[in-house]
Amino acid sequence: MVRVRRILVETLLAGVRWPEQKAPRIQQVLREITARCDGILSLDFLADLEIVAARAWLESMSGVGPKTSAAVLLFSTLRKPALPVDSHHHRVAQRVGLIGDKVGTVAAHALLQSQLLPDWDAQQIYDNHELLMLHGQKVCHYQAPQCTRCVLTDLCYYQRLCAQDQQIE
Ligand code: SF4
Repeated sequence: MVRVRRILVETLLAGVRWPEQKAPRIQQVLREITARCDGILSLDFLADLEIVAARAWLESMSGVGPKTSAAVLLFSTLRKPALPVDSHHHRVAQRVGLIGDKVGTVAAHALLQSQLLPDWDAQQIYDNHELLMLHGQKVCHYQAPQCTRCVLTDLCYYQRLCAQDQQIE
């Protein structure tokens, strides 16, 4: 059974970065879920929990933080409105001033989710995440953001700081 799972995990991770590090970690989480759910490898029961409780259950497993718990709930068939914040999403949120520049990724989850309308459904949460993430990937790069072709220039806190620095120089 474990052998089948390893093959399945490695197949699912094809094309993902650092598969050799991720595969054993995922196997460990699968074993932990099975042990905690009376031998059943399923998270379907999370559908009956409130989001806060479902996230707390997931995050009680070692190595599972808010990004993973939100991603599991949002991207899976559970389809719950939980907001994941990856590094691109986080960077754009800081630069446009949605969160402070000292706010880390863990704290950013609660802050950014609290800024969304409480009646937004999972698709709207998904779209919000995708837009910020894709903006970070395609335009607002970590190094050399392409501000001259950015639609957020007028709103961007980071861009104003850069413009001030250039005036001082
Ligand atoms: S103006 Fe520049 S720093 Fe601001 S969001 Fe756009 S690309 Fe990022």
